[in-house]
Amino acid sequence: MGPPSDSRRSSAAPGGGPASAPSVPEFFGAYIDDYFGSIARLSWADLVRDQEGLYASLAFGTAGIAYTHWYAGYLRGDEILLAEAERWIRAALAGQRHRFAFLTPRAQPGDRMPPGAYLYGRAGLSFVHALIARSRDERRAERRALACFAELSRAAAAGTAELYTGSAGCLAATAILFQHLGGGKLLDLGTELSATLRQRALLGGQGNVTWNGVHGLGLAHGAAGVHLALLLWSAAAGSDLPYWFAPSLAAILDTALQFPERFTRREQDRCSLCNGIIGPAFLALRAAQVLQEPSFLAAARAITALATARLPDCSDLCCGRAGCAFALLPLARQDPGGPWRKLAQDLALSTLLCDRADWSLAGLFGGEAAIPCLALNMTLGIDSGPPCLDFIASFPIGARISDRHSAASSLPSCDRTARSSFMAPRS
Ligand SMILES: [Zn+2]
Repeated sequence: MGPPSDSRRSSAAPGGGPASAPSVPEFFGAYIDDYFGSIARLSWADLVRDQEGLYASLAFGTAGIAYTHWYAGYLRGDEILLAEAERWIRAALAGQRHRFAFLTPRAQPGDRMPPGAYLYGRAGLSFVHALIARSRDERRAERRALACFAELSRAAAAGTAELYTGSAGCLAATAILFQHLGGGKLLDLGTELSATLRQRALLGGQGNVTWNGVHGLGLAHGAAGVHLALLLWSAAAGSDLPYWFAPSLAAILDTALQFPERFTRREQDRCSLCNGIIGPAFLALRAAQVLQEPSFLAAARAITALATARLPDCSDLCCGRAGCAFALLPLARQDPGGPWRKLAQDLALSTLLCDRADWSLAGLFGGEAAIPCLALNMTLGIDSGPPCLDFIASFPIGARISDRHSAASSLPSCDRTARSSFMAPRS
């Protein structure tokens, strides 16, 4: 599948940008060029020298760098970036047997990352490899990557359900791959993984549903993350959700609003995707679209307002400002009268202030690799949620679809200028 059809067009730039101070899109554009120019000079060996372990994963290492190059290459139709994505995913695949590929040097001798871990482990490498292979039209490599991904995902089905490290992550990844690539094997895999997660659900007394191996109620470590995986699969495959899904989600959202300290005790951590309440707010927003349930949109709005009353200090996707900005973008689309888009832009701009040398990790969830994805979304008016936790580039189901069909023409004129110049081939 190529880039969205409208991204291939480069509409006439109406007059060029302002002569003096750079506009916000120009600022993001300059950052994006600087990031890819800087990473082009690096390799796996540099990462091993500069980072304390976690060299290969999507969340922290080289697979995250590969994903970011793929995402930019896919949106821009840029073969050079896609070739760089291939270089980085090959480095991750070749390095995955390194003792610290998915662990830190502080790991105990018996520690190991479950191989089926999507964001923290091996399954994420196959996920990214399949996306890159499709964009480069390398069908044999794509088939091999998908076969490896399916094997790892099936092995993970009996382990923890957690999204970051377990079977919910594999289901979310399958949903994203199926929505992007299609194909009967991914449909079979997702159907199977979804059924297993549903069978393993532990139904509590007051509508609450949880799973073994999840930590708390939050999104990527907690029960909300498993709900997100089931929701993404339902949206991708057009299949029904279990009867307990909506009441269980309503219970999680009610707890997030009434007792946010049950997610995290620190107010500044409420915007963390891993354990805060911003993750459930993003889940509520997507559920409002899939289930056409306005009360979930109201919950998303209220929980986001509560979470963003105190913004995080750090810049990363997992615990910081990038994750918060990504969660705000889909809400801004659904609730255009709210303050969300301006806040997302302010947060995104603030992440650019973090010096490259101050990022201790390179990957997508703990490192700088999320920031170019965020800058791309801000520049191109893309309202997808956190990368690898939402469909790529657009959400296919639900209200305001008409907006997406006219996304390019409805961008403010400065964005259109930036978009058309951004889409021009690199020299
Ligand atoms: Zn975190």
